[in-house]
Amino acid sequence: MRRPILAANWKMHKTAGEALDFVYALVPRVEGAKHVDVVIAPPFTALDRIGRVLAGHGLALAGQDVSAEAEGAFTGEVSARMLADLGCRYGIVGHSERRALHAETDALVARKAAALLAAGIRPIVCVGESLEQREAGRTFEVLGAQVEGSLAQVPRGRAEEIVLAYEPVWAIGTGRTATPEIAQEAHAFLRARLVARFAGSAERIRIQYGGSVKPENVYALMAQPDIDGALVGGASLDPTAFARIVRFEAEKGGAQ
Ligand code: PEP
Repeated sequence: MRRPILAANWKMHKTAGEALDFVYALVPRVEGAKHVDVVIAPPFTALDRIGRVLAGHGLALAGQDVSAEAEGAFTGEVSARMLADLGCRYGIVGHSERRALHAETDALVARKAAALLAAGIRPIVCVGESLEQREAGRTFEVLGAQVEGSLAQVPRGRAEEIVLAYEPVWAIGTGRTATPEIAQEAHAFLRARLVARFAGSAERIRIQYGGSVKPENVYALMAQPDIDGALVGGASLDPTAFARIVRFEAEKGGAQ
């Protein structure tokens, strides 16, 4: 049984003060949700301010990105050791916005995931096809290459520490969610690739879906056998909406 993992990716939203307000609003709304992992990825500038508060309530802190380098003359970069020092338990790598806007390759994503593992942080590794690739019938070819390349440096013995996030680019921030069936098809494909790469431990790797997840569609997505969580952008900025996503079982009956 894989423990569900619901993660908030705030991107470049919220000052440190706003982040703290969010956490104080979220905590009482998710207090009863003991059977899931809740992860908040604020901007780097808010990590320190909210980290201790989150930890005190059993919620996990995450970085939205990390440098592949350990230390040195890399202006503007943040290392995995710095994230660990602030209490980050997870780190997002390979988000489609970083792949598209910062030309990040699978090889770089693999190095970033390795840097996180070396610092004792669980990588949340994002993969996903564009609309053009889907319409050209290349979805599985693209996902297969991304998984292989991005996880190339994950040793089999540490496979269970990673989280894979399937985020179809056409569903991110567009309001257009993949149907549960489309998402499950991709997740089943990804699971098979993980089995090929990591054998038995692949069954314990969690695969999140990301792309316009909202309280209204989270239950149907989470009901799919290979969907173990959600990586949430827009809807995670509001504590009430994100709390409803965390408590997804109460959303049974919601429409897409
Ligand atoms: C994301 O950026 O990871 C994401 C899934 O965003 P949204 O929920 O806004 O589509």
